[in-house]
Amino acid sequence: MSVLVVGSTALDSIKTPCRLNPRLLGGSASHAAVAASFFAPVKLVGIVGDDFPRRYIQLYRRHGIDLGGLQLASGKTFHWAGEYEVNMNNRRTLTTELGVFETFTPNLPEAYRQTPFVLLANIAPALQHQVLNQMRRPRFVVADTMDLWLNIALDDLLKLLRRVDALVLNDSEARQLTQEDNIIAAAKKIHRLGPKYAIVKKGEHGALLSSPGGMFISPAFPLNKVVDPTGAGDSFVGGMVGYLAGRSRGAPDAHLKRGMIYGSVVASFCCEGFGLTRTTRLTREAIEQRARLLERMVRF
Ligand code: AMP
Repeated sequence: MSVLVVGSTALDSIKTPCRLNPRLLGGSASHAAVAASFFAPVKLVGIVGDDFPRRYIQLYRRHGIDLGGLQLASGKTFHWAGEYEVNMNNRRTLTTELGVFETFTPNLPEAYRQTPFVLLANIAPALQHQVLNQMRRPRFVVADTMDLWLNIALDDLLKLLRRVDALVLNDSEARQLTQEDNIIAAAKKIHRLGPKYAIVKKGEHGALLSSPGGMFISPAFPLNKVVDPTGAGDSFVGGMVGYLAGRSRGAPDAHLKRGMIYGSVVASFCCEGFGLTRTTRLTREAIEQRARLLERMVRF
């Protein structure tokens, strides 16, 4: 089954203590769509400007991503710039230039509206709503978000939460959303806001799932060198939802735990290169191999 991914389609300028890489392909939807493409067919919804390099369109195509929902507009592509400290857990946003996203109205092609799996990757909650409004009875809807929307669009986000099956967010966002210091308590509060499944990401310490079936802890794959963690969260959720869509048997939630493991694996590869450079060279076999390694590390 296929996955519809909506989110930012961006050019990222990323500065780490070692290097500056201007205008790489980035955006929550780009990372999530490429990650999902290893497991299931993907349809992309987004917008790019006339400065968007053709080679990035070709990159999407190489991953078999359906671009029928990608609008090409005159103007500038969303541009995000961020800087990492030596401790790469600390990142500072230098610039967010919305460009063509400022006037973006997602208008889904007819063929997109019945897609069973929907991933609302990080973007303004109002746009996530607009996409959901056009869908016909999706099987499973997952939303991702960021602190910016908690600060400037909380009402829209709270309304969205009543419409999604699963919410994915990082630990500090979970604390901010629920006003709970303890993330287990925070996850429980998230259920009351709507989502049956709450997934709290903890960076290099993995992710926690709270669900009606109990809790699950998914580790992050231990890396001895992180080149650029940009997009790791998007790759995690993209890999996870892609995996769910790729399983034809059983209810989607039956595969959530394994999906989180695959999400972690793709996210770990993402961190090994700038932007999408490592992820885009991945194969399903390399993913399977690392998933087996991770499984061995946690079995006892
Ligand atoms: P992550 O490292 O998982 O937090 O995601 C980083 C990606 O988020 C980058 O590729 C950015 O282009 C994208 N991004 C940053 N700020 C925003 C925003 N305000 N809305 C949507 N996407 C964003």
